[in-house]
Amino acid sequence: MNESMTVVGLQTGSPPRRGVLRAVAMMLAGVVSLAACGGIETIAIAGEREPLKVVATIGMLGDAARQIAGDRANVTSLMNEGVDPHTYKPTPGDVRAMSGADVILYNGLHLEGRMADVIVRMAGRRSVVRATETIDESLLREPAEFAGHFDPHVWFDVSLWKSVVGRVRDALIEKDPAGKEAYALAASEYLLLLDELHAYAKASIASIPEKNRVLVTAHDAFGYFGRAYGLEVLAIQGISTDSEASLQDINALVDTLVARKVPAVFIESSVPRKTIDALIEGCKGRGHTVRVGGELFSDALGRKGTAAGTYVGMVLHNVEAVTRALGGTIPDARPLRLSAYMARFETPPTPTRVNTPAPAAPSEKP
Ligand code: ZN
Repeated sequence: MNESMTVVGLQTGSPPRRGVLRAVAMMLAGVVSLAACGGIETIAIAGEREPLKVVATIGMLGDAARQIAGDRANVTSLMNEGVDPHTYKPTPGDVRAMSGADVILYNGLHLEGRMADVIVRMAGRRSVVRATETIDESLLREPAEFAGHFDPHVWFDVSLWKSVVGRVRDALIEKDPAGKEAYALAASEYLLLLDELHAYAKASIASIPEKNRVLVTAHDAFGYFGRAYGLEVLAIQGISTDSEASLQDINALVDTLVARKVPAVFIESSVPRKTIDALIEGCKGRGHTVRVGGELFSDALGRKGTAAGTYVGMVLHNVEAVTRALGGTIPDARPLRLSAYMARFETPPTPTRVNTPAPAAPSEKP
């Protein structure tokens, strides 16, 4: 370990004299440790707590942990933008990350179908938490076509997701009791934000003319969304993307779209759009024009660093895209917490720079 690494975080603007540097380094030699894990370096000083290592399968769970833990935890999500959890196979790197984690969070309800073996293996050694376990089973959807299994896409009913957030909070407290107050405070603030999001989603979707309240997507991720906010949901594929949509499925849906004059269908960020294109073509052949109402985030968050890279931004994007495409009206103002939350991601207008050439003025020659 070199000296500059040892004192990272202690350096100020001017470089310290070598003697001072050495003294500080020696003082800290016994109490500073540098841990490198997956390229992320963490420095812990004795007396200070090392951040909790949390690994989440899907981004939505990772985001919940981040919102609650702040800098008390280093959170890694294994599946990021555009990744489909139904078909995702863990990489050797994922297994390493899980092996080194203090807490592993997964959705369960067969969402992470191909990770089951690894999750079971980890459960013997690590704190492995099925984040949906505290949701009252009577509130879970059990669609006939999913043969006795529950629908895993619980994040699209914000009121259900609150239960998941509560479970994540408790998992963090169990592993890091010293942080109990901080976790509880952050979680209660975040839950208030989710209440606002839930109410906003209801109001927004309710503005869609009743005959247009039909949400058509590639796979059936939006059952909870439809139930919570009042939309009928039709999907080409079933609950999982693990099997191909058949021509029969597509034709049956074309019949419905034509008969009901559904104006828009939606593509999904984590599912190839070819089935939706087949649907649009099918309708065209029958004289009914259906357009793409936009891209919805279904089973994965959007790009890191954007609003849709967080759970709240993802839900808000979907709510507003669906409202617009189906002829509703976005509420005039967002509630206070939601508005403040989203403002973090909105870039302020660029100030005019004096050295920037002014745009050519319209010619006003007489
Ligand atoms: Zn799905």
